[in-house]
Amino acid sequence: MSPTDPFAAADLPAPGDLVNYHGSLTDLHGVFVVLPCPCRICERLDRIGSTETRYMLIDPWGDLPGPHHVRRQSITRSTANG
Ligand SMILES: [Zn+2]
Repeated sequence: MSPTDPFAAADLPAPGDLVNYHGSLTDLHGVFVVLPCPCRICERLDRIGSTETRYMLIDPWGDLPGPHHVRRQSITRSTANG
């Protein structure tokens, strides 16, 4: 997978994938396991037709509470997924 590949750029992370977080919470920049955000706010946004999927990030080592309501633009699917 080349970084210039337009299909790779559109590659959405699947639940359970490792992602790099590079959003507004700079203290939390790093690698997380990604899941769809399960909170009521994001679920409701999804139901009323928001096209923007929000994610919840989980520290794979369980040390940190990861950020919630994370925008797609704030994460990149990790190359560690293969
Ligand atoms: Zn949320």
